[in-house]
Amino acid sequence: MLTGKVAVITGASRGIGRAIALEAAENNARVAVIYAGNTAAAEETVGEIKKLGGEAKAYQCDVGLFEETKKTIDKIIEDFGGIDLLVNNAGVTRDSLLLSMKEEAFDEVINVNLKGAFNMIRHVYSHMMKKRAGRILNITSVAGIMGNAGQANYASAKAGMIGLTKTVARELASRNITCNAIAPGFIETDMTAAMPEKILEEAVKAVPLKRVGRPEDVSRLAVFLLSDLAGYITGEVIRVDGGLCM
Ligand code: NAP
Repeated sequence: MLTGKVAVITGASRGIGRAIALEAAENNARVAVIYAGNTAAAEETVGEIKKLGGEAKAYQCDVGLFEETKKTIDKIIEDFGGIDLLVNNAGVTRDSLLLSMKEEAFDEVINVNLKGAFNMIRHVYSHMMKKRAGRILNITSVAGIMGNAGQANYASAKAGMIGLTKTVARELASRNITCNAIAPGFIETDMTAAMPEKILEEAVKAVPLKRVGRPEDVSRLAVFLLSDLAGYITGEVIRVDGGLCM
């Protein structure tokens, strides 16, 4: 579905990002794997793609840093000859009730989750405009739709990503570039593994499908939205949450 396309995927060393990277490679995309600090995990993603007969390269880059993202995008364009698909998936949580949330915890989550997506889009924007083609996909969260106690920073960032998605979709539609978002519910990754077991158990009770999702539940939709099959879908936010937020 993605033959020959160059896909840049942030946070592709682990979890949902890795699943999107593998699924994209299985669909014949060439993949730039962006990660923050976990080189071994990023190289594992690259190794798995190579095992599939695909092409991939890892880039360490803090998506929250404007200049660093510019350098990384320039390097990827040099290495791969261009960029067709961008997935803003990198994300962090620093949960606590607002009453005790430290200023740094608010700033960090906004900076990585929301500004990180802005930084990446900002640096591929003119490149995709000139090509008159491109797909941008933002991984938001149901927390950005429903809010979530203990996640004022995260829910704000994820709600912001939805506004960003719709704005980019409007700005770039005339250039044949789409921008969509996926809002996952609870998905089995290191992020949910860090949640207290009791809280996750309670949370799953509220999921109509009565289970947590798998990274592949998200990556299959991601590849569809990145493909030509989704050419008439833009500015959309699709939940992958087992019915949690319907
Ligand atoms: P995860 O397993 O914790 O992995 C996070 C990924 O983001 C890692 O690859 C990490 O790189 C990367 N990352 C973190 N900070 C970064 C930074 N500053 N710059 C570049 N990369 C950075 O997370 P996940 O559960 O797969 O979540 C992926 C996305 O889905 C996130 O945006 C998350 O908010 C969203 N989401 C997840 C769930 C869920 O239930 N899991 C639900 C809704 C939404 P390193 O490996 O180098 O640290």
